[in-house]
Amino acid sequence: MENPPFMKLTFLGTSTSVGVPLLGCGCEVCQSKDPRDFRLRCSALLETDGRKILIDCGPDFRMQALRHSITHADAVLLTHEHYDHVGGLDDVRPLGNTDIFAEERVLGAVRRVMPYCFGENRYPGSPVITLHEARPGETLSLSDGESPLSILPLRVMHNKLPILGYRIGDFAYITDASSLPEETIDALKGVRLLVLNALQLPAHPAHFSLGESVEIAKTVGAEQTFFTHFSHKIGLHALTDASLPEGMHLAYDNLTVEF
Ligand SMILES: [Zn+2]
Ligand SMILES: [Zn+2]
Ligand SMILES: [Zn+2]
Repeated sequence: MENPPFMKLTFLGTSTSVGVPLLGCGCEVCQSKDPRDFRLRCSALLETDGRKILIDCGPDFRMQALRHSITHADAVLLTHEHYDHVGGLDDVRPLGNTDIFAEERVLGAVRRVMPYCFGENRYPGSPVITLHEARPGETLSLSDGESPLSILPLRVMHNKLPILGYRIGDFAYITDASSLPEETIDALKGVRLLVLNALQLPAHPAHFSLGESVEIAKTVGAEQTFFTHFSHKIGLHALTDASLPEGMHLAYDNLTVEF
């Protein structure tokens, strides 16, 4: 059997839509001096096979790109159209021509907020941003570069909104889930590294709580699971992280995982 390709994942941001610290909040998490309790909006960068793949592009993207010297992206995978996942897309323009993958509904939202990037409205001289439709269960292939890379979009439910997660080889990334269909649980079997959202300790209608995510992670059984997309109600990083079962961790901003 061939060795699986080397992958490096960087957590660019690990917070929910409002960020941590929450503006004006005096709680111990928002007042913490631990840098792991300072979280930008949720996004990640996967590097594999000489490619850089950005997963979501929230309103903190420009700062994240500066921090990590991101000067191009071979693909941008969008999970859904909520502002905390697409609010930085205008800032991909300096990266040059870019391919964005998302569901048709989400592509429509991108066209509406950035009409100057597309079709007859395209601002002269601006980079070409190409939109590609992703459908759950239908493998996407990035054919440029040294070898093709397969990406499998997965159906995820965000309360009543159908959104996407992605599996790439032994890695899968799911955020903003409040439930996962059976076929998605099946499609996650065999992943070595799972990223899964876990909003906070209390239950929430549109996002898994940490306890719910731990149960899903046990079912999937990845070697390592990292949780992401937190509110300040996740508790102090150091304390909550230490309470997790073996092989499970809270992600934090700028954490890199190689596998
Ligand atoms: Zn979100
Ligand atoms: Zn707080
Ligand atoms: Zn959302």
